[in-house]
Amino acid sequence: MRCPHCHAAVLVEIGVTLANGQFTMHSCPSCEARWWDLNGEAVELARVLTTVKAA
Ligand SMILES: [Zn+2]
Repeated sequence: MRCPHCHAAVLVEIGVTLANGQFTMHSCPSCEARWWDLNGEAVELARVLTTVKAA
């Protein structure tokens, strides 16, 4: 995977297991973009936060 913003190949990935799946936070050290996915599908941060509150 590459950063969708600056196309850097080196990314930081942090996995978080919640009640409804495996979230991964991707962070780009080059441009500081951040995004999330749930079980491999991109999700909005708002949805992640909703899930965290519900858990
Ligand atoms: Zn980037």
